[in-house]
Amino acid sequence: MIPLSKQVQSLPAYLFSLFHKKKMALTAQGIDVIDLGIGAPDLSTPPFIIDKLIQEVRKPENHKYPPYHGCMEFKQAVTDFYQRRFHVSLDVDREVLALIGSKEGIAHLIQSMLNPGDGVLAPDPGYPVYQSAVHLAYGVTIPYPLNPEENFAPAFDQISERDCTRAKLMILNYPNNPTGGTVGLETYEQAVRFAKKNQLILLQDAAYDLVTFGDYQSPSLLQAEGGKDVGIEFGSLSKSFNMAGWRMGYAAGNEELIQGLGLVKSNRDTGQFPAIQKAGAAALNSSFDSVVANNRTYEMRFNIILPELEEMNVRAVKPRGTFFVWAQVPEGFTSQSFAEKMLDEAGIILTPGTAFGQQGEGYIRISLTHPVERLHEAVLRMKKAMKGG
Ligand SMILES: *Cc1c(COP(=O)(O)O)cnc(C)c1O
Repeated sequence: MIPLSKQVQSLPAYLFSLFHKKKMALTAQGIDVIDLGIGAPDLSTPPFIIDKLIQEVRKPENHKYPPYHGCMEFKQAVTDFYQRRFHVSLDVDREVLALIGSKEGIAHLIQSMLNPGDGVLAPDPGYPVYQSAVHLAYGVTIPYPLNPEENFAPAFDQISERDCTRAKLMILNYPNNPTGGTVGLETYEQAVRFAKKNQLILLQDAAYDLVTFGDYQSPSLLQAEGGKDVGIEFGSLSKSFNMAGWRMGYAAGNEELIQGLGLVKSNRDTGQFPAIQKAGAAALNSSFDSVVANNRTYEMRFNIILPELEEMNVRAVKPRGTFFVWAQVPEGFTSQSFAEKMLDEAGIILTPGTAFGQQGEGYIRISLTHPVERLHEAVLRMKKAMKGG
C-alpha cells in the first residue's frame, strides 16, 4: 500500500464523482437516468466563441507558454467588462489574473492566504469545493448560516465573536449555489464593513454573475465602498457562456490578494492555452446577446417546472439567478431519503441539500440543465414514484 498524505486521505470523495459512479451503475442496468444533480450547463458554447478559438489555434504565437498572469487580451477584456458592467476601474497589470477555471483560482487563493489552523467562514449551505480547498491548505472551515427570509444573504448577526476572531477569510457566493440566493449592493457593503471590523479577507465567488432573470442584475463586490481594500472576486466563463470544459476564469480585486494568488499559480501552473484565453476575451467583449438568450431559456424552465413540482408538494421560490431549484422536500422525508427514493424508484438524480452542509437538511437541489421535455419527463416520473407510496 502506498499511503496518501494525511490531508488527502481525509478528503471526502468529490461529491459529484460519487453521483457519476451511481449513475453509471444504473445506466449499465438499462435504466434511463435523468441527472438533475450536476450543475453544468446543457446548452452549447456560442458559435462566435468557437470560431474565434479556431482562428487563434492556427496562429503559432499561441502555441507558446502564456504570460504568467494571463494574456493581455484576456485581462484587458476582464478590465473592460468590469468598467462596462459595474463601473469599476481595475489596473490590468496588478488587479486582474487569468485562471484555469475559477475552481482552481479559489483553491489557490485559499492556499496563498492561510497558515495552518486559520479559519475560513464558508456559507452553509455552500459549494463543497470551499471546504476541501480549506482542508488541503491546512485550514479550518467555519460554516456560517444564510438567511432564507432575505434571499439567502449571509446571516452576519449569527456569526459569533469567537468565529470572527478565528477566521482570516470569509467566502461569499452570489448568485448562490445551491440556494439561488441573490443580493443587492447593500449586502456587499455590509460584508465589507463586517470584514474591516473583523480583519477578514472577502472572497466573492461570482460564477453565476451573468445568469440572472428579469430586471435583476447581480452587483460586484468591487462596487461596494472599500470592496477592493479587502476583497477579491472570482468570475467564470463556464456558466454564462456554456464553457465549462474550456476551463477559463478570472480573479479581480485587491492587488495584494491578486499578487499572492499569482505567486502560488506561477509556481504551480503556467496558465491556460493562449488560444482559449483569446476566445474567452471574445466572449467577455461580446454584446452578451447569447447570455440573454441562455437566461431566457433557464427562466422558461423555471416557469414551467416550479408549478409542476409544487403539485407534488416540492416547494421552491423562483430565484433571480442560477439554474438551480432549491426546494423543500415533502413532509416525512429527509434530504437523503427523498433523493434516494427518487433515484431508486424514478431514476432521477437530485442532490440532497445536506451535500452542501448541515443547514441544507430538508432541501434538495434540482439543476434545470436539461431541455424542458426532459424536465417534464423527470417530474412525471417523480410524481408517479410519490403516488406509488
Ligand atoms: C461551477 C461553479 C464554480 C466553478 O466554475 P469553474 O470556473 O468551471 O471552475 C465555482 N463556484 C461555483 C459556486 C460553481 O457552481
